[in-house]
Amino acid sequence: MRRFLAYFRAMITHIEDNYRHKGLRKQLVDILRTKGITDEAVLSAINEVPRHVFLDSSFVELAYQDQAFPIGSGQTISQPSTVAFQTQLLGVTKGMKVLEIGTGSGYQACVLAAMGAKVFSIERQRNLFFKTKTILEQLPFRVKTFLGDGYEGLPTYQPFDRVIITAGAPTLPTTLIEQMKPNGVMVIPMDNAEGDGQTMLRVTKMEDGTLKKEEFGDFKFVPMLKEIGND
Ligand code: SAH
Repeated sequence: MRRFLAYFRAMITHIEDNYRHKGLRKQLVDILRTKGITDEAVLSAINEVPRHVFLDSSFVELAYQDQAFPIGSGQTISQPSTVAFQTQLLGVTKGMKVLEIGTGSGYQACVLAAMGAKVFSIERQRNLFFKTKTILEQLPFRVKTFLGDGYEGLPTYQPFDRVIITAGAPTLPTTLIEQMKPNGVMVIPMDNAEGDGQTMLRVTKMEDGTLKKEEFGDFKFVPMLKEIGND
């Protein structure tokens, strides 16, 4: 019983969002402005989503620095400026259906949901999937999560207005392109030729089915792997 209460108390502290957290978030938004994030809808979503809730409690103090952090199972929560940059490139508006590959901590998914998107997010790591599901259930953001291989997308829920990949992809996943609407946009970090990171790519599926590709600089992501697993 005592152990249960301690656990319960820890959960409440973890989910708590106080004035200090809110103040730190405002400062983070200011930092993101200086780093070239101009989309007010993105900034307001970052201001709304309590990032500390997605980190293990020992990292609470650091949650609002512009840094990536470990979230268990060898994975990381992306750096806030990377989340903001990818979200800005995606060009999300209210009501859009967005598919995310790599739920991870669930933070990026919540930022999209805070912008009014209908978010469908796939995670391949079983442990992380269940851990994140528990956190998301306690938050007011509507995100549908799926345990699966992101390469396969979600045939039942397609077509999507937007697709965001949050792991480094070796090739352009054609199945996911097929699951996009005409004029749909995918933002994807693609492995570079040197093998030391990724180039951020925005792929637009034109009305005639051809793809327009634009490049937006270098990033570092954990790899996009195949199939469900715990590795
Ligand atoms: N969007 C996340 C960042 C996650 S890091 C966040 O906001 O925290 C990338 C995630 O992609 C990892 O959790 C990894 O397990 C997952 N991943 C890698 N390959 C995948 C695949 N084929 N399908 C689904 N998820 C995948």
